[in-house]
Amino acid sequence: MNHQLSTMLYVHVPFCSSKCGYCVFHSIPKPGDDIIVSYFKKLEKDFEREKENAGKLESLFIGGGTPGYLSPTNLERLFTLIQNNFSISEKAEISIECNPESLTEEKIKIIEGFANRVSLGIQSFNEAHRKILGRAGDMRNVYESIEILNNSKINNISCDIIYGIPSQNVKDFEADIRTVVSYKIFTHFSAYSLTFEENSEITSLYSEDEKDDFETVSAEMWELIPEIIKNTGFKRYEISNYSLKGKECKHNVDTWFGGKYLGFGPAASSFDGNVRWTQRELSEWLRGEPAIYDRISEKERMNEIFMMGLRTVFGWEIKPEMSDNNRPQTVGQFKIIGPYKNNSYSVSSSYVEDLKEKLLSLKSSGLLDVLNFDAGGFGVVPTEKGLTFWNEIALQLV
Ligand code: SF4
Repeated sequence: MNHQLSTMLYVHVPFCSSKCGYCVFHSIPKPGDDIIVSYFKKLEKDFEREKENAGKLESLFIGGGTPGYLSPTNLERLFTLIQNNFSISEKAEISIECNPESLTEEKIKIIEGFANRVSLGIQSFNEAHRKILGRAGDMRNVYESIEILNNSKINNISCDIIYGIPSQNVKDFEADIRTVVSYKIFTHFSAYSLTFEENSEITSLYSEDEKDDFETVSAEMWELIPEIIKNTGFKRYEISNYSLKGKECKHNVDTWFGGKYLGFGPAASSFDGNVRWTQRELSEWLRGEPAIYDRISEKERMNEIFMMGLRTVFGWEIKPEMSDNNRPQTVGQFKIIGPYKNNSYSVSSSYVEDLKEKLLSLKSSGLLDVLNFDAGGFGVVPTEKGLTFWNEIALQLV
């Protein structure tokens, strides 16, 4: 596992305009000013305490909740706090999540002075479907927010879409995706199937049979996406993520491939290369209760990272570790290498032997492509079928 300082930062802003019917994220609708003041005080303390564990930041993701819900003054405050505590590489990808109903021209002026990527939570271009999801605002807000972004200096813009919405048919879904790719401002989109989580409001509104039907239509919609985006320049690079060439979300790719990140704010996770820990929800977090640690063995962690990488079209390269004179190491160490320079892990030859057997069996089921390289190295990428049945890959690798 790698032991350098974290070069990725995540900040969770848990506030929103209202609570969407399907939401199980940690979010507080319409918070009072006192809560926001306490949030900033605690965030400042945590930044101060943890900043030594961060190196020069290569990516920064401000997610939520709805960070764009913050007032212009609070957005400025957040950006200043980050700048005062961390060093940010000039080429860093800096993303912030916004929603149409709370994005304004005044806010985008502040955002463009700090961030270079915006993720806009549209979810659907159909007013009725947005209502079923319980999204705040209306289509007028959606079009206005697109206009605001179009007039801004931000030129890396992602859009979130949800499918499998009750009453949505395949044609409606196709129209949503076609609308996304028709807007030249979008360089990336994420499309997630609506999930009926136990604690969400929407779940109690539909019978089990109805939910099964939505799932069946969802699967059909997912399979249709490559066809809809053909010849648009967009490509699927992860099960739920699509982008123009070079516009993949670097922060997410690095996270999936096991990069180290520091997470701040309530419910934010951090990962130090081996251990993952998650902060408590707002009230416990404000009281200073300790984070929850997820301790698993190094081998289990490696398996987890390896599986996550196979949700992407990048896959992994596995090759013998070379000594200084470019000969394979006699101790039989291997390197598992992802798409970025820091996604590289040393593992034993017995780990690779075990892995190879499982990978070959997945290859014979048509879920993976295993490519042989010279000097005992090989590459592994999921096939289209492998992305569809990724759960099968995960099950077999565990
Ligand atoms: S905007 Fe996002 S975080 Fe906020 S309530 Fe809706 S789904 Fe949840």
